[in-house]
Amino acid sequence: MISVEEALERILAEITPLPMIKVPLSKALGHVLAEDVISQEDIPPFANSAMDGFALLSRDSQPQDGQPPRLHVTGGVAAGYVADHAVEPGTAMRVMTGAPVPPGADSVIQVELTRSEGPESEWVEILQEVAPGNNIRPAGEDMRYGQKVLTSGTEIGPWDIGILATLGWPQVPVIRQPRVAIVGTGDEIIDVDEPLRPGKIRNSNSYLLEAAVRKAGAEPNRLGIALDTLESLREKFSEAIQSDLIITTGGVSVGDFDLVKNIMAEQGEIEFWRINMRPGKPVAFGHIGAIPLLGLPGNPVSAAVTFELFGRPVIRKMLGHTHLLRPQAEVVVEDGVSESVMRRHYVRAHIEWKNGRLTAYTTGNQGSNIMTSLLNANALLIVPEGGTTIQPGGTAQAIMLDWPES
Ligand code: AMP
Ligand code: MG
Repeated sequence: MISVEEALERILAEITPLPMIKVPLSKALGHVLAEDVISQEDIPPFANSAMDGFALLSRDSQPQDGQPPRLHVTGGVAAGYVADHAVEPGTAMRVMTGAPVPPGADSVIQVELTRSEGPESEWVEILQEVAPGNNIRPAGEDMRYGQKVLTSGTEIGPWDIGILATLGWPQVPVIRQPRVAIVGTGDEIIDVDEPLRPGKIRNSNSYLLEAAVRKAGAEPNRLGIALDTLESLREKFSEAIQSDLIITTGGVSVGDFDLVKNIMAEQGEIEFWRINMRPGKPVAFGHIGAIPLLGLPGNPVSAAVTFELFGRPVIRKMLGHTHLLRPQAEVVVEDGVSESVMRRHYVRAHIEWKNGRLTAYTTGNQGSNIMTSLLNANALLIVPEGGTTIQPGGTAQAIMLDWPES
């Protein structure tokens, strides 16, 4: 039986990021950027006015004999157009916000600091002295030609999409999303739309994992349930190997019908199949052909927890992320953990701020078949190997499931 750390290290050593593909900009949200984004232009591309007002020579704004200077208005420029003549000394041009600053002008005065006879006025009085560069947004003020603006490995968010749009990237190079086959196993498992019959339970794992896989950024392919026969498993696996990763649940402990290990041995190899943890000791890792296979336990809580600890980092590594693991924090365990377990124990807990401390409340019965122990859990308390308990009010390290990977 190997430790959680060794298992994770050995799994991740086998995983490499997937190749780059291009996706339309409007579909790029949440993908991982596969290349640095270097600006091929100055942004803004031309010096433009930050205000509605008048473009002028700043020295023409100085009062003359204590009187506001009066300038001849020679025309105007709206946003989206360019001036057809220059601003000469003693003149001004009307400019709108975003319009290119006309040649000759070195300053813009906002309309509120001027007086004229309205939009057609042929003269304007300048009521305040302005400095060179006033209200002018220079070319390249935001981004310069040749500047690295976004770094490969960034998870693309809405604000990055805005940057990519302004730089003219209709297609974005991203890491391809992994396709993840999800295979349930067990003669006792029926689908969610079936009424319960004697001896049968519904397939919760495949649906839980489908959602968790999608949340991790991959594309799930739920392949249903294989019966506890080698033939049925072979049939599912012939489809599953079209994927980048296969996740199974059940069939990896020591029972007579635990056949996932047999299939791995037959069609690939088993790297290991037990981890010193609870919930989730029977986790198998290996390959079917060249496709990595993560065989998770059948108990739903074990499947959920081992997916968080091993499956999610695998998907993130395939996606090109460099931060693979959830952050940990020291928390006060309000109710304590009295159950003594020899294996590493991951206790589901709800954590909130209380009196300036992160405070954990465990979620009740921690049996690996108790699905309600997942409800409201936003953290896993790490109780060390060797039968450790935690007194009420004692502290523990917690894996923060709703904090972003760091
Ligand atoms: P196994 O490892 O196949 O012996 O499964 C361990 C436990 O998990 C058994 O009680 C199974 O009935 C249960 N189990 C296996 N697969 C599923 C599933 N897809 N959904 C819900 N429970 C399952
Ligand atoms: Mg089974």
